[in-house]
Amino acid sequence: MIKKTYVLSFPQAVVQQPVTYHLIKDYNLITNILKAQVTPGQGSEEKGMLVIEVQGSQKNIDRGLDYLTRIGVHYQPLAQDVVWYEDRCTHCTACVSLCPTGALSVSRPTMTVSFDKEKCIACEICLKVCAYKAVSISL
Ligand code: SF4
Ligand code: SF4
Repeated sequence: MIKKTYVLSFPQAVVQQPVTYHLIKDYNLITNILKAQVTPGQGSEEKGMLVIEVQGSQKNIDRGLDYLTRIGVHYQPLAQDVVWYEDRCTHCTACVSLCPTGALSVSRPTMTVSFDKEKCIACEICLKVCAYKAVSISL
């Protein structure tokens, strides 16, 4: 189970659709709306914006995002970065087996932990297990 935050923007035609209802019911996602805004306008000028946290399996999140694309909703991950502080890392490896993407990995035989930012999906699992605060989120 992972949690991601997205900024959704959708055109007037989608404003009245129960988007979050479908994400919950059809894609088995837990959703939490952090911010919602409808920009008033005439006809096609009306637009909606939603900042939404979705929680579920990666597969269901991917399916939910496909659904959004199909109905004309644009989405982008909330700009956030996971930062790894090498100087704080004790290379205890507690995070390595929990990292779902291999962004945190260990080299053998040196048992040195390293971080590949490109692979990180900002699921925040490592933040919960690192006792040394060697990883954090920058918003
Ligand atoms: S849990 Fe923290 S200290 Fe341990 S290897 Fe991972 S980042 Fe480093
Ligand atoms: S947030 Fe941590 S556990 Fe999740 S993918 Fe990134 S490095 Fe791995």
